[in-house]
Amino acid sequence: MTPQDLQKFDHLLSEEEALVRKDLEEVAVKDPASGGFQPKPADYEGDVREDDIAREATTTETNTAIEQELKHHLEAILEAKEKVKNGTYGVCEKCGEDISMERLTELPMSPFCIKHAE
Ligand SMILES: [Zn+2]
Repeated sequence: MTPQDLQKFDHLLSEEEALVRKDLEEVAVKDPASGGFQPKPADYEGDVREDDIAREATTTETNTAIEQELKHHLEAILEAKEKVKNGTYGVCEKCGEDISMERLTELPMSPFCIKHAE
């Protein structure tokens, strides 16, 4: 992989990171103590009726699921960026072979080649 390629993927990863962080802010609130995110409780205006409470619980659960997915995604991006820095980016973690450019362009944070993708 050329330095230009690395730069391109670093850029792709940064863009992806910005998107994920923005999505995270929509479903989660920042926890100032840890710097992490907490699922955002749904808030409703007006009188709270029983079915509102039920709906609120469902929304909070959904937010939690999305939040975990996004966090997982963000971690993968940050790991990939770390690899760009230390020069191990684009190498499959299972077999050590280069991951194809097509695959990296589609999934820049992927740590595995197509054969070892889950
Ligand atoms: Zn592999």
